[in-house]
Amino acid sequence: MQFHHHGYVSGDPRVQPAAGVGIDRPAELPDEVDVLIVGTGPAGMLAAAQLSQFPGVTTRIVERRAGRLAIGQADGIQARTVETFQAFGFAERIIAEAYRITETAFWKPDPADPSRIIRTARTPDDPAEISEFPHLVVNQARVLDYFAEFMANSPTRMSPDYGFEFRSLSVADGEEYPVTVTLLHTSGPHEGQERIVRAKYVVGADGARSKVRQAIGCTLAGGQANHAWGVMDILAVTDFPDIRIKCAIQSGTGGSILLIPREGGHLFRMYVDLGEVDPNNKGAVRSTSIEDIIAKANEILHPYTLDVRNIAWHSVYEVGHRLTDRFDDVLPEQRGTRTPRVFITGDACHTHSAKAGQGMNVSMQDGFNLAWKLGHVLEGRSPQSLLDTYSEERQVVAKNLIDFDKEWSTLMAKKPEEFEDPSALEDFYVRTAEFPAGFMTQYAPSMLVSTAGYQNLAAGFPVGKRFKSAPVVRVADSNPLHLGHHATADGRWRIYVFADPALPGTGSATDKLAEWVAVSPESPLAATPEGADADAWFDLKVIYQQSHHNIDLGAVPEVFKPEVGPFKLTDYEKVYATDPTADIFDLRGLDRGGVVVIVRPDQYVANVLPLTATAELAAYFAPLLQPRRQKELSSSVLPEGPIAHSATTPSALVNR
Ligand SMILES: Cc1cc2nc3c(=O)[nH]c(=O)nc-3n(C[C@H](O)[C@H](O)[C@H](O)COP(=O)(O)OP(=O)(O)OC[C@H]3O[C@@H](n4cnc5c(N)ncnc54)[C@H](O)[C@@H]3O)c2cc1C
Repeated sequence: MQFHHHGYVSGDPRVQPAAGVGIDRPAELPDEVDVLIVGTGPAGMLAAAQLSQFPGVTTRIVERRAGRLAIGQADGIQARTVETFQAFGFAERIIAEAYRITETAFWKPDPADPSRIIRTARTPDDPAEISEFPHLVVNQARVLDYFAEFMANSPTRMSPDYGFEFRSLSVADGEEYPVTVTLLHTSGPHEGQERIVRAKYVVGADGARSKVRQAIGCTLAGGQANHAWGVMDILAVTDFPDIRIKCAIQSGTGGSILLIPREGGHLFRMYVDLGEVDPNNKGAVRSTSIEDIIAKANEILHPYTLDVRNIAWHSVYEVGHRLTDRFDDVLPEQRGTRTPRVFITGDACHTHSAKAGQGMNVSMQDGFNLAWKLGHVLEGRSPQSLLDTYSEERQVVAKNLIDFDKEWSTLMAKKPEEFEDPSALEDFYVRTAEFPAGFMTQYAPSMLVSTAGYQNLAAGFPVGKRFKSAPVVRVADSNPLHLGHHATADGRWRIYVFADPALPGTGSATDKLAEWVAVSPESPLAATPEGADADAWFDLKVIYQQSHHNIDLGAVPEVFKPEVGPFKLTDYEKVYATDPTADIFDLRGLDRGGVVVIVRPDQYVANVLPLTATAELAAYFAPLLQPRRQKELSSSVLPEGPIAHSATTPSALVNR
C-alpha cells in the first residue's frame, strides 16, 4: 500500500481522502446521477465499489430492503473471487474469518449394505494450484459488508441508499440523462411515495426476479426450476465423521446431500435433495418444512445421525438454468448504432443451481467487467463503444457456466446405480476443477482483447484469461512479493514490461521501449491528462531477469520511476527482479528476449507484444482512448485536505 506521498497520513491509510463527488456527498439520493445501480447483492456492490474509485462520477446504489442483508443466500467463494477481493484490499481479512475448502469427500452406498453410506474418495480442492488464493466459504452478507466498507472509505464516500424499490424506467437517447427511473420509497418517512431519478446509465443488479430486466424487454430463456433442494444453515451434533469437510453424499435411497462446512468452526450448510419439482404443483415442494428437510437429511446420512440444535437460516432452493440473450438494452439489430444505457448483471441475466457454488462469484465478475468500463467512459477516457463489450463478453461466460452447471447438477442428482462408471462424479469434479474455481473465463478477441499473435512470448499469460500472479522481488527494498497483488481495483490499466537480458541503462530493447513510452505522442501514456501523475491511467512496471542485487535502480529508465503527488516524489515500487526461488520467466513461460503484457483494469490479459512492437502497442490502445485531454480536469475531482495540491485524475489518488 502506498501513502504519505501527498503529505503525512496519521490515520488508517485505507481510508482514502474524500475527493470529487465524495466531498459534501449528499445524504439524500440526488435527482440526477451518472450511474444508478439497482440492488445491493454481490453484482451491484462490486460494481459500486469499483465505481467508488472514480471521484468524478456520481454513482448511487439503491436497494429495496431497509438495510443490509443479514443472513442466507450464497456462501461459496471461489479462488478467482478471492483474487478479486485482494484487489479490493480485503482478501486477508475475509480469509481469516472464512472456512477454507482443501478437500472434497465423496460418500456413497456401501455395496455390502446399500442402506448405509461409506466414504469412497477424497479429492484435493486445487491439485493444480490454479491460484495462490484459497477456496472459501463465508456468508454472502459478510462479502457485501466488505464492499460497503471499501466504498465508504473511497474518495466518493459511497454508501447504499436503502429503502428504494425500482419500479420502471424509460430511455430517451440524446438527452444528457437519458434514463428516467421511477423508484418507490419502501421505508422511512416517505414510504409508499414515488421518486424519479434520471441517470446516464442504469445497472440492474436486482436478482433473479429483476424488474430492470423486464423493463428492457429481456427474458430469461431456458429450463425452469426442475430440481428442488432444501438448504439449511445449522448448528448440530452428529457422528458423521466428515462434518467439517465439504462432501457430496449419495445415499442408497436415492437422495443426496451437498455438505458445506461454514465459517466459525461450528455452523454448516446442507443442500438436501428434495427431488423433482412437480410442474403442476410447485407449491408442494416450496412448502417443505424444515422438519421434513432435517428428517430427509437423517435418512440420507444413515447410519449416521444429525441432531439439529439451532437453525440459523433455511430455504427451499429451486433455481433452474436460465439465461438472457443480451445483458443490455441494445437490440441485436441496433448494435453499433446506439450506446447501451441500461445493463443487467448477476442473477438478473443468468441463474443456475447452487451446487457448483457459482451464483455469487459469476455475478461479481459481471460487476467487475462492467464498472471500470462505465468509469472510463464517464470520465472521458474511453469512447462509448467500450460499453458494448460488456454484454458481448459476459453473455458467453454465463452460457458456458450454465452448460457446465447442467452437467454437474445432473450428475449430482443421479442415483448411484445410474452411473456406468462408479467414480464418474469425482472424476468430473477433479477434471473440471478450473471451472468452478473461476479460471475458465477467456474473453474472445475484441476491441479490448487482442488476437494473441505473440502468445508464444508469454505462454503462461493466455490472452483473454485472468493475469495469473507470480512471485518477484522488488528492487528498491528487496521485498519478495506477488506481482499481481499490486494490481488494485483502481481502474488503471497495467503494462508489465518483462525485460530482455541486458541490464538497465545499456541501450537495451527495454530501455528503448521505455524511451518510446515516455516521449512518443503515440504512447498510451500520452493520453494521460495534463497535470496528472504520469501513472494516473497506466501502471507501468518492469521486471528484470537478474537478481535484484544486480539491478542499479539509478540506471532504470525514469518512466518506471514516475514522479507522483504534489511533492513530485519518486515512486520506487514499479521496478522488480526475479525471485531466485521461483523465477517468473520460467513459471509463466516468458520469452527471455523480453515481452510486454497488457492487463485490463479487471485483471484480464488483453495483449502480449514483443518489446519492439511499439506501433502495435499504440494501435492496441488507440480505439480505447480518447485523444489527449489537455488541462480538462475539473478541480472538483481533487482530493481534499492535506493531500490535495496538484491536479490528478481520480484513480491517481493516494493509497494505491
Ligand atoms: C433467497 C435466496 C437464496 C439463495 N440461496 C443460495 C444458495 O443457497 N446458494 C447459492 O449459491 N446461491 C444462492 N442464492 C443465489 C445467490 O445468492 C445469487 O446467485 C447471488 O446473490 C447473485 O447476486 P446478484 O447480485 O446478482 O443478486 P442478489 O444477490 O439476488 O441481489 C439482488 C438485490 O437486489 C435487490 N432487489 C431486487 N429487486 C429490487 C428492486 N425492484 N428494487 C430494488 N432492489 C431490488 C434485492 O433485495 C437484493 O438485495 C440465493 C438467492 C436468493 C435470493
